[in-house]
Amino acid sequence: MQIEGNVIVCDSIDEKGIEILKNAGLNVEYYPEISKQELITRVKDYDVIIVRSRTKITKEVIDNAAQAKIIARVGVGLDNIDTVEAQKKNIEVINAGEASVNAVSELVLGFMFSLSRNIPIANSATKQGKWIKKDLIGMELKGKYLGIIGLGKIGRNVARLARGLRMNLIGYDVIPIDKNFVQEVSLITTDLRTLIESSDYITCHVPFTEQTRHLINKEMLSRMKNGSFLINTSRGEVIDEQALVDCLKHKRIGGAALDVYETEPPTNKEMLELDNLICTPHIGAQTKEGQELASTVIAEKIIQKLLEKQADNQSI
Ligand code: NAD
Repeated sequence: MQIEGNVIVCDSIDEKGIEILKNAGLNVEYYPEISKQELITRVKDYDVIIVRSRTKITKEVIDNAAQAKIIARVGVGLDNIDTVEAQKKNIEVINAGEASVNAVSELVLGFMFSLSRNIPIANSATKQGKWIKKDLIGMELKGKYLGIIGLGKIGRNVARLARGLRMNLIGYDVIPIDKNFVQEVSLITTDLRTLIESSDYITCHVPFTEQTRHLINKEMLSRMKNGSFLINTSRGEVIDEQALVDCLKHKRIGGAALDVYETEPPTNKEMLELDNLICTPHIGAQTKEGQELASTVIAEKIIQKLLEKQADNQSI
């Protein structure tokens, strides 16, 4: 069945999704570098607005999106979309939450291996001609305690992968964790403070909300075990970045790895110069497979939603 409608793609997305939309009959216009002002001028002509994380769908954009029915985020978090304003205008907001689960989870494992075996330091020293083998005594993941904060899609997948590495798992979530899953991975469920105090590795997988802002603050950092590691691939605001910098500067913990920051790109020079901190530029979902899946999942969801809306209009 063919559908009519105009789609604007505001950020770069995998071409598979664009093909699916075009094959369904939609007119797709691709502006991966569109500026805020240009979007405000153009947006009135589109039924569907597709973004990743670069483009911000603010109240101003929504106020000008006279015929928009759907705002689609090729990814997970909706923090770049004013969902309250969209709802007021009856515009549906959809995302592809499931698409990046594996990509992010594998990055978490990469961080754990990198922190434990000092891979970034070993790499740069060896290339500089420094043979610092004696200084690079690492740690094995097997048998260590991994604390997972937020047992949603990514947190659960990380748990399954870490179980394969024979790690012990501790979990904390604000909602009850599925009993079958708890049994499957032998998860010890506990409160946040106990998790922080008992884990050798801590990884954050919560959304950014007012409740999760600085969930890991100075006090929580002070409760971490000596030599333990902190990983954040969720949202930068979940960790009090300056408190983490102070903690790392004094080598209170073994190290940390961040994929997300309070400001992106990060500007805190003091933080970027730390040897015991690994930084990546928000690449959690940046795999070929993840990007392709996200764009196809979102294209299929858009088609489904437009068909439903078309059917609703015909039945009126
Ligand atoms: P999800 O919604 O499936 O799971 C989030 C979990 O966090 C839920 O179980 C929820 O109950 C729990 N939670 C919420 N508030 C909490 C709190 N205060 N304390 C403890 N638990 C709490 O989300 P997901 O798909 O697993 O994504 C997790 C995070 O990863 C999100 O912040 C998302 O934006 C981020 N993410 C980052 C990248 C990246 O590129 N680095 C890619 C995808 C997702």
